[in-house]
Amino acid sequence: MTNCRGGNLPPADDNRPAFVYMLLCSDSSFYIGWTYDVADRLAAHNAGKGAAYTASRLPATLVYQEQFENKIAAMQREYALKQLSRGEKLMLIGDVPEKYDGEYKLIRSARKTVAIHITRGGEVEVRAPLNAAIKDIESFIAAKSGLIAKHKQEIDTRNAVKSNFHLSLGSRLRLLDAEYPLVGINEDRCGFDGNCFYLPANLADSQIKAVVIKIYKKIAIKAIREKVVKYAKIMEVYPAAVKVNSAKTRWGSCSGAGSLNFSWRLMMANEEAVDYVVIHELAHMTEPNHSARFWDVVAAVLPDYQQRKQLLKETQEQLAKEDWE
Ligand SMILES: [Zn+2]
Repeated sequence: MTNCRGGNLPPADDNRPAFVYMLLCSDSSFYIGWTYDVADRLAAHNAGKGAAYTASRLPATLVYQEQFENKIAAMQREYALKQLSRGEKLMLIGDVPEKYDGEYKLIRSARKTVAIHITRGGEVEVRAPLNAAIKDIESFIAAKSGLIAKHKQEIDTRNAVKSNFHLSLGSRLRLLDAEYPLVGINEDRCGFDGNCFYLPANLADSQIKAVVIKIYKKIAIKAIREKVVKYAKIMEVYPAAVKVNSAKTRWGSCSGAGSLNFSWRLMMANEEAVDYVVIHELAHMTEPNHSARFWDVVAAVLPDYQQRKQLLKETQEQLAKEDWE
């Protein structure tokens, strides 16, 4: 007796083995998906037909795959992989530095969980409950060792770049949209004359940075006050005082009493970005919080404030590589 099944139908979807795969895109981000045929799917991605995400980040490279009994299991794993942090994904594909087995400082306190913290100087600190057993702490560290090593390596690299930052006569210094040389003169004064930063030629290298900061502060107070006056008029607000400080992480701030503070480090940003910070702080005089109304006030003066924020971010990234302490 013949069986009247027609052609060779593929088996029902749910019973075919399925795969989870991870691609590394051209912008170094990861894409995770599931498929019945990894090679076929990879080809589709690289032809721009796999997903909108990968299509704009080609070429994509297959860096990881796992096989499952069926589609449901693969989809569950796909979901779990998507929840992983970038560091965890890197660990999964084996792209991690050697495991961390160095020293750490143990800090016990009345806390409930163990946590690892890497200081700005690159030291590893482990914070643990008062009664946590050393073997539990050690196994916690062992489980996280790849991530610790990776994070520590990033911090160490950043610190190494920072420690290469030196100022000396001839260095070029950013000021708003331009760069100017640092020049030594045979007089006991310092400043900026529109063409160069100048200071006494006989200063030791170790003294130069402090003097350069003094010059930046002098420029900042004048430049920022001018901008505040200009935009306060347009925005019809009347700040009580304008001061320049050395804040590292806040470009500007506005106190309740209408006193505005700005970091001298703003002088290393683009002029358009400085205008944005001034307008941002002036807007706080009428809108204290970053509400939709606040951004409306900013946008009324600077419709392109988003681009200016981006410029500021670039300056922040550049400053992170320089040692201005
Ligand atoms: Zn703000």
